[in-house]
Amino acid sequence: MIPIIKPFFGKEEEETVLEIMRSGQITRGKWTLKFRESFKDYIGVAFCHTVCSGTAALYIGLKAIGISKKEDVVIVPSLSFMATIDAVIMAGGTPVVIDVDESYTMDVNQLEDAIKKYNPKAIIPVHLFGQTADMDRIKSLCQEKNIIIFEDAAQAHGAEYKGKKAGSLGDLSAFSFYASKNVAMGEGGAILTSSPYIDEKITNWIEFGDHPALNLRITEFQAGIGYWQLKRLEETNEKRRKIAKVYNEEFKDLPGLILPQELPDRKHVYHIYALRHPERNKIVEKLIENGIGARVYYEYTLHELRNVEHLPCDFGEKCSRELFAIPIHASLTENEVEYIVDTVKKVVKEI
Ligand SMILES: *Cc1c(COP(=O)(O)O)cnc(C)c1O
Repeated sequence: MIPIIKPFFGKEEEETVLEIMRSGQITRGKWTLKFRESFKDYIGVAFCHTVCSGTAALYIGLKAIGISKKEDVVIVPSLSFMATIDAVIMAGGTPVVIDVDESYTMDVNQLEDAIKKYNPKAIIPVHLFGQTADMDRIKSLCQEKNIIIFEDAAQAHGAEYKGKKAGSLGDLSAFSFYASKNVAMGEGGAILTSSPYIDEKITNWIEFGDHPALNLRITEFQAGIGYWQLKRLEETNEKRRKIAKVYNEEFKDLPGLILPQELPDRKHVYHIYALRHPERNKIVEKLIENGIGARVYYEYTLHELRNVEHLPCDFGEKCSRELFAIPIHASLTENEVEYIVDTVKKVVKEI
């Protein structure tokens, strides 16, 4: 089976894990600091805090910007991993769900309506599948009303919008370093901001001492692996983009199949290569029978999953019935890509 996800590690990761083990300093050491510094520099922000998961990063970020009670409305898109909405609920706020558009990111026209109707304190644009949301339009809508923009960049390490990196485009951002992500540590996350005010709040939520807190730290092993994963990121993202180019070219005439679009001014890093087809379930089943780890992303929408307030989300609901993904990662060989191309063509034509 060609797995849908496979992290890409080299000698550096192996040697660093061994070095950490032998050094005896397995948490709160130099690798945690090194990773933190290099990640903030890479993204282009002033402050970075590592935490144990992307979900924890979202939760702490929301707490830091004062989301704590029912009146604190946070707008989220209908299509994302469930952590995006769960973090809002866990923080004590009220999520309101709006639709996504053909880019699979937040529908900005609906955002305008939602801002008028719900007076949100914050919004969470998700850079879904590796492509950023329409940040200029989102910013212009939020700035007038002082609405905080909290990017969910868990799938967008290295993605760009007008030459700026995802994670540096809003007031603060959350990343995940889960095993499948473009920077993989196994588990891990980070919260980034360039605002000293927000940074101080984040620190207060993370650090023990003055008040009760959770331990959300990562170990030196995770940070050491993440450090080298980050060093490789430009290269592994290029590899993903190359495979996407092959897929886009080979699949462009397949009946009923809708391909991902890279929009102008954006650099897509293809965390997930997402396709749409009305017979998605049959296609996924056939691909798995043929040894290709295809998977449905996502079979739910966030408003249906958590049964919350929402605007009409027809497109997101359609996506939850039609979207699926095929392997796209830096561990794929040329032969595997070729086999995937041939098999997808055969299966889609036969459906
Ligand atoms: C992976 C992911 C998260 C959560 O990250 P974890 O590290 O798994 O907690 C949040 N949002 C999105 C969009 C993700 O893909």
